Amino acid sequence: MDKSSIHIISELGKNIAVIGSSGSWFELDEMGMDILATPANPSSSENDARLSNKYSTTEINYFINTIEGALKKANTLAKYSTDRQEVINKMYLQVTTRCNLRCRYCYAEETAGTSTCEMMTSEIARKAIDLLLEENRDQETCVLDFDGGEPMLNRPLIEDVVDYIKLRTKNNGPRVRMTIASNGTTMTPENVDFLNNNKIAFGISFDGPPDIQNNIRPSVAGRQSYDFVMDNIGPLLAKRRIIAQATITPLLLDVDEIVFHLADLGFNPVQAEPAYACADKKCQIKPNDIPALTNGFTRMAEMMLTGFKQGRLLPFYNFTEILTRLHKRRKRQYGCSVGAKMCAVAPDGNIYPCYRFWGNENYKMGTVAKGFNRSVQRLFSEAYVDNREGCKDCWARYFCGGKCLYLALYFNKDVNKPYDLNCQIFKCLLSLSIGLYQHIHGSPGLTEQLELSRNK
Ligand code: SF4
Ligand code: SF4
Repeated sequence: MDKSSIHIISELGKNIAVIGSSGSWFELDEMGMDILATPANPSSSENDARLSNKYSTTEINYFINTIEGALKKANTLAKYSTDRQEVINKMYLQVTTRCNLRCRYCYAEETAGTSTCEMMTSEIARKAIDLLLEENRDQETCVLDFDGGEPMLNRPLIEDVVDYIKLRTKNNGPRVRMTIASNGTTMTPENVDFLNNNKIAFGISFDGPPDIQNNIRPSVAGRQSYDFVMDNIGPLLAKRRIIAQATITPLLLDVDEIVFHLADLGFNPVQAEPAYACADKKCQIKPNDIPALTNGFTRMAEMMLTGFKQGRLLPFYNFTEILTRLHKRRKRQYGCSVGAKMCAVAPDGNIYPCYRFWGNENYKMGTVAKGFNRSVQRLFSEAYVDNREGCKDCWARYFCGGKCLYLALYFNKDVNKPYDLNCQIFKCLLSLSIGLYQHIHGSPGLTEQLELSRNK
């Protein structure tokens, strides 16, 4: 038996074998561990004596045949193909590059000046919408995300876009699901009413405990932002669900502390992502931060298990997103849909694969005036996980899909060379999620709780 495509996970008291080539997994009992978690070939003679002292030949052979069958089956699975052209069904519209905060890790500084204007005009925005609607003419839905800077600083343009979409889709066309990511400072009651009335879902970027938020996300004038945000968001949290998206920096690596603070405030769900490519390098996660980060994620997983046993799936999006995929047996070929099914439009009308590629001329995906550059889109469609040199043999590949292509380019100068720290954190979250799932799968109400937890 070739053990090289079997990865063993031991998390939360569970031992699990993952077959990388199929993205399947199964729990191991003591015999399974004795057979698989040994350094030598499990069917070699050196193991025979040791195993036969503990188990019958029938038991051992049955286990080995089952594994070999699963490995054989994995090799016959159909390969992913990119024969057809993908539809770009998600568009980020950078309505402004202006922001009233100066977050220390923000990438805006690096891309500042790459757009020839700060505020997107109605003419550019409407052309972008025309492009999105034309691309999705045969689809039922597509997604438009208002991005920035702080997008609500250009509310007049957002209003114009909303009116234009209503006009254009009055009689036919896809339903446009609209979302906005705000820093929370602009979420006044009037702005929230406007978003609600137009069914624009919103999430808040917020980094947790006051000393962290105030230190990392000061205002332009250097003012503290924790109270500024909570004065707006606090009253809303009692009435509705709002997602908080936190960025983890070396200033506080105890991710559980961040996440619990936000959950206690009432945010639901809560997501926390490490800062990797930052303007201020002191905010960037480094290799020696990984142990503290993984310890924090482990504590979160343990608390999720305890919470679930008490009847509640805690709303930690980092886990619930993976748990949902495990539950639905969904495999991934892409980490995100960057460039292949997603694009981002800068204020001057230039189109890029996503909001982190602003101003990168090598990956410019067209303009709102001339449409999409399909050869750049093709390049991203080809970056599926089975086709990436750094990913195609990774045990986690069908759970991961290849993570962030921007980070691969930023750190390794190649969209197909994954960034190692990004991989390490994902594998940690995946291992914990699989361990957790083995405890909770089959529990009544799990499907509903997962559904609810993902409903951002
Ligand atoms: S990005 Fe990293 S973790 Fe994900 S499949 Fe590629 S090598 Fe594996
Ligand atoms: S490439 Fe990276 S930054 Fe861009 S959308 Fe994907 S995950 Fe986000």
